[in-house]
Amino acid sequence: MRRLCLVMILMLVLLTTASWADSWYKVACHVHTVFSDGIRSFSAAVEEAKNNGFRVIIMADHVEMIAKKWHGFENYLAACNKSYDGITVIAGVEVTTKKAHTVVCGPLTLESLKKLNKAKTVLEVFAIAKEYHLITVAAHPYGKFNPYDRDHAGGVNGHELLNDKEYQKNIDWLLASLKAGWQGFVWAGIDSHTAADPDDKERWQRQTFVYAKSSSLDDILAAFRSGQVYAARDGCVLTNLSYKLGYEVQEVPFPHISFDLSFRQAPESIRIKFYCDGEYRGSTTMRGEGRTKISYWEEWFDLPKGKHWILIEVEGRLVTGTIWLDVQNPPNKE
Ligand SMILES: [Zn+2]
Repeated sequence: MRRLCLVMILMLVLLTTASWADSWYKVACHVHTVFSDGIRSFSAAVEEAKNNGFRVIIMADHVEMIAKKWHGFENYLAACNKSYDGITVIAGVEVTTKKAHTVVCGPLTLESLKKLNKAKTVLEVFAIAKEYHLITVAAHPYGKFNPYDRDHAGGVNGHELLNDKEYQKNIDWLLASLKAGWQGFVWAGIDSHTAADPDDKERWQRQTFVYAKSSSLDDILAAFRSGQVYAARDGCVLTNLSYKLGYEVQEVPFPHISFDLSFRQAPESIRIKFYCDGEYRGSTTMRGEGRTKISYWEEWFDLPKGKHWILIEVEGRLVTGTIWLDVQNPPNKE
């Protein structure tokens, strides 16, 4: 009896530890420095991220410019691989090909950088990324990438949001891609080059939240790969979501949705939109009424039996990745 109790207590401790292990990390995605066409030094960009409360920064200097400048790939890798106090730096480059700008990030090496610098097409970029276990993201996809051809979609791991003027077209493209079977995450692209840019302050308010075991390179990349990510700006933060974000299918008797949203400044009103399997499902508009925190709760989220994905958008402020549910017993609707 005593042994059983001990085992049960141990299991409880383990379960509790497991549920505490993961947390949300704020990631600054897509940043330029003097290694390409940015004005900030590498360490100044890292400081800027830290000052804006980020725990991770993903660099994205243009690969062909790093190659040409006196700094070179060796110095770039050395800067990326140095350890910085309180922040994880993830090496990344932006690769320009005929039809696309692609951010490639992860454990970059001299060899992979040289290959990426020679890539002529997005398909070559994807092949190199796959070979070296790197992550690819379609940078400011609307316009440049057009955004990506359907047959290219399989090679892109992520879709950049909030970094082009075509907010709605970008969301529509994302939904259409997901509906066509693409599996990918979203991130908020900062794309900062210089403090002299009048938009620079706003750029650093574009935040990517990643649910990971720790802020280490491996854990952050693993979280990106499992889709546990959302993109936001203006200090909009999502918490207490009733389901996990990502590609893992969660069995549920019937779905209910609840979450909290917080804002840096109380919004006048917010519009929350829901999408299911790529289709717009409905929206709720809430008055801010001076509140900086809003709770949303829906007891019965109308989904038929079977596997479905949901995506939540707080218009103009926040877009989640997919939430996959396997609905077991939806109640009969009268
Ligand atoms: Zn860029």
